[in-house]
Amino acid sequence: MVARRVCAFVMPDGRMCRAGPQRDRPYCFAHEPERAAEAAEARRLGGLRRRKEGTLAVAYDLFGLDSAEGIRRLLEIVVTDGLSLENSIARLRALIATAVAATNLLKVGELEERAAALEAAHRPPERADADELGGGLLEGPDR
Ligand SMILES: [Zn+2]
Repeated sequence: MVARRVCAFVMPDGRMCRAGPQRDRPYCFAHEPERAAEAAEARRLGGLRRRKEGTLAVAYDLFGLDSAEGIRRLLEIVVTDGLSLENSIARLRALIATAVAATNLLKVGELEERAAALEAAHRPPERADADELGGGLLEGPDR
């Protein structure tokens, strides 16, 4: 196994930076002395970006796209903003795309409900019931 190269920068607390170094250079992008100004600017922009994302998430009551509610909220924002624009082909296309996305979201929600209902209908007896049968039924040879 080839040892992975790591950045030669030592942190103030004595730990090594664990980022990969740039090609033919001992330091990663963030710790390259010749690029200190660029790296500082990149960090500043990253901070501004994260702050802006946080502010917008609060302002729009947007809680991420990893749940159906989050996606629905985004679609509501798109529709609201889209409807307030002057009419154009682009506006109509955006509204149709939003309707398609919302339809897909409804389908996924419906499938999830069906899957949950099927799982509930085919769920094996609760563990408590098994214990009432005298125990030992769920114990295999490796226990
Ligand atoms: Zn580094």
